Amino acid sequence: MRKVFNVGYRHGRLTLVERVTNDRRKSLWKCRCECGNEYIITETRLVRGAPKSCGCLEQENNTPRPDIWAVERRAFYGAKGRCTNKNEPNYQNYGARGIQFKFTSLAQWFTELGHRPAQGYAVDRINNDGHYEPGNVRWATPVQQRRNQRHKKLTAKDVIFIRKARSVGIFTKVLAKWFDVSAPYISQLTSQSSWWYV
Ligand SMILES: [Zn+2]
Repeated sequence: MRKVFNVGYRHGRLTLVERVTNDRRKSLWKCRCECGNEYIITETRLVRGAPKSCGCLEQENNTPRPDIWAVERRAFYGAKGRCTNKNEPNYQNYGARGIQFKFTSLAQWFTELGHRPAQGYAVDRINNDGHYEPGNVRWATPVQQRRNQRHKKLTAKDVIFIRKARSVGIFTKVLAKWFDVSAPYISQLTSQSSWWYV
């Protein structure tokens, strides 16, 4: 049975406004779309059931949804790269120092950290010699990060110097004062549990 179309008939987002016949005696409908656009559709296409909008619906469906975890995802891959990719400029301070990336999935990372609280925050490790792992990561402000990274200011040259100085008997305390780091950290350097690759 042939479907009958009337003015006011709704087809998806389209409402039929007026029926016209074109120069080839084809039936056409002028429609108004919910988005406000006017649209011409042939009755043949209406019978077949498509399309259901002026094109706005298809466009909406093809528009990717905003990626609400983009920042956190970038942080995940950034940290992972620093720990595992020797070509990363920062690998020296992470992977090479023995810092491991122990998160096994993005979901685990998102669950642990949640959303970045505000711009300017970055992920850092609570214990700076610990790994990227649940319980040891947080969103930190630049100030918190700097405080935490204080003893990372040392260069390879400094480390070599400190080890030499210790080997000739200069006290750990003295070296700690000279380099503005903690005495236990000097011991770590000397025993090569930090900066073992130098
Ligand atoms: Zn539309």
